[in-house]
Amino acid sequence: MGTINVAANLHHVRGRIAAAERGANRPPGSVQLLAVSKTKPATLIRDAWAGGQRAFGENYAQEAELKARELADLGIEWHFIGPIQSNKTRSLANAMDWVHSVDRYKIARRLSEQRDPSLPPLNICLQVKLSDEASKSGATPQQLEALAGQLAALPNLCLRGLMTIPAASTDQVKQREVFARLRALFDGLKKGHPTLDTLSMGMSGDLEAAVAEGATLVRVGTDIFGPR
Ligand SMILES: *Cc1c(COP(=O)(O)O)cnc(C)c1O
Repeated sequence: MGTINVAANLHHVRGRIAAAERGANRPPGSVQLLAVSKTKPATLIRDAWAGGQRAFGENYAQEAELKARELADLGIEWHFIGPIQSNKTRSLANAMDWVHSVDRYKIARRLSEQRDPSLPPLNICLQVKLSDEASKSGATPQQLEALAGQLAALPNLCLRGLMTIPAASTDQVKQREVFARLRALFDGLKKGHPTLDTLSMGMSGDLEAAVAEGATLVRVGTDIFGPR
């Protein structure tokens, strides 16, 4: 692995997001950048922070908790985006500000029960599994309405949106098809759940397609921190 210039990479990714916003006639700044720092050392996270980045995403509960502790001086907004085992919810419930990968009620209930009630509610996105998706996790579109209803009753969570991880594809038409489906599910769910404001979709290889289809948050790892 060569030297990674995080500041230059961040600048480039922000340029791509801005161009995609313009291309979709969306206001500048309507898409938030989540820097996905999984497997990368705290020093690179500090580099990104120095470059103005404030929100970071992690995939592994233990790593997320350790980094949150090590970097507590910065006041980072931490997002958990990886698969969740029920025995790992306690650390996530209190070390994270957001969890994007909730796909079943049991996990949501534990996160709410274990969240320190003196903290603000934990922000939640439901992960949705769309067909030909790479990841095994995710609720089905049919489960969303019931799951959102159950979450609304949990006091220490705030349901903010939907997240998906499509199968990797270099075909922009295919990329957009999947993102358009998540967008439609989001618009439908929002009618009964006014706290929904976050459409978490798009990564290094497909953020342009995601922004074109309405993403409000893109999760970018490789193009900021280098290959893993
Ligand atoms: C790793 C990961 C990303 C970042 O992917 P890149 O292709 O490295 O940008 C985004 N979202 C999730 C859920 C991930 O696990």
